[in-house]
Amino acid sequence: MSFSSLGLSDALLKAISKKGYKSPSPIQAKAIPPILNRKDVLASAQTGTGKTAGFTLPILQILSQEQQLHNRPVRALVLTPTRELAAQVFESIKDYGEYLDLRSAVIFGGVNQKPQVNKLRKGVDILVATPGRLLDLHNQRLLSLAKVDILVLDEADRMLDMGFLRDIERIMSLMPKRRQNLMFSATFSKNIRKLANGILDNPIEVDATPENTTVDAIKQKVYRVAKVKKTGLIIKLISDGNWNQVLVFTRTKHGANRLCKKMNNAGISATAIHGNKSQGARTKALAGFKSGSVSVLVATDIAARGLDIPLLPHVINFELPNISEDYVHRIGRTGRAGASGEAISLVSADETSYLRDIEKLVGLKISVEIVQGFEPDPNASTEPIKQGRSGSRSRNKDQSSSRNSRSNREGKIKSSNSRGRRRNRNRRR
Ligand code: AMP
Repeated sequence: MSFSSLGLSDALLKAISKKGYKSPSPIQAKAIPPILNRKDVLASAQTGTGKTAGFTLPILQILSQEQQLHNRPVRALVLTPTRELAAQVFESIKDYGEYLDLRSAVIFGGVNQKPQVNKLRKGVDILVATPGRLLDLHNQRLLSLAKVDILVLDEADRMLDMGFLRDIERIMSLMPKRRQNLMFSATFSKNIRKLANGILDNPIEVDATPENTTVDAIKQKVYRVAKVKKTGLIIKLISDGNWNQVLVFTRTKHGANRLCKKMNNAGISATAIHGNKSQGARTKALAGFKSGSVSVLVATDIAARGLDIPLLPHVINFELPNISEDYVHRIGRTGRAGASGEAISLVSADETSYLRDIEKLVGLKISVEIVQGFEPDPNASTEPIKQGRSGSRSRNKDQSSSRNSRSNREGKIKSSNSRGRRRNRNRRR
């Protein structure tokens, strides 16, 4: 299949070929035609599948073919859960839209609003935003959503998980009821289905997670280890293996900082990325990792979500997430774009029940190894750890409104059924 057979314009085809893409990814092949046909779409797709181009390309095409409105009001709105994802989507729009006369902007919290407002004043066709800053600027009457014709909810599951439900509902109320809605989510919990039922009108369901990003295609391994020996083990694994592009997950921000410090002391260049870091520090950390000057990126789940890090050979769970779906998100970062990858988890006694839940969710028993000198503590309690990301987790600036609850996350990895689709509140053209 070629991009031209999807009905994309020459200007877009030129931008695509400049990016070096040879053919559409499965999500692009399946999502682009219905979006161009102005259908609502519900897509199951993780980061790394090419989902961004899957919605960006057809939106650019639709907007470029429609008549420009006076003052250039926002006609397409892309909502993302994190600043990093917003910035990445914006970059994609700029790249793919290089040969089109469309304007785009990105707005997110944690940085001065003035440059964002100046850009909005000049008129913007496509706006990428995190919910908090979007509502903030709307409340200040610095932007209008009254002409939004296409809405994208990117990583909808994470938006719910981060407590954005009320913000999303409020944002819906600020837009025309008749519009095209596109929703992308890696997981499909009951709450995601409910949100989809409320927003989407008779959507086309697209499920195109490519083989190499499915859980079973990733080599998974568990190292049973005493809690106090985890740092030593991770340093040994990275040093012995001479690994230089490793994404490490910790459950807490402090844990990420501590681990980074110890790795740096051991001569491994590591940097942390989490919600307490300024936007500048997060961007710098990611750039260092991408350029190869930093070997290890230590991240919390929220900070890592949506990061565009192509070709990641190693993902290490320094601690297992207590939410099984997060494990799937984490390991989905390896084995991308056809590359082989390995996902390693360091598991201490108190994480035994998390491991059991994860194995149940992914439907396989993960092979276990023990490294001499880093054996598990036979006397340690198997009582689960009570810390890190949980229902009462604190919220950053972009995480306003409603509280998160365990039931928000009781999803399955994927579910393609369309049971219970109810009448929709918002009817489009
Ligand atoms: P995404 O899932 O949107 O974050 O995209 C993941 C990565 O795949 C990004 O680095 C994109 O530039 C890249 N990508 C997107 N579409 C294609 C394609 N058709 N062929 C090759 N790479 C692509």
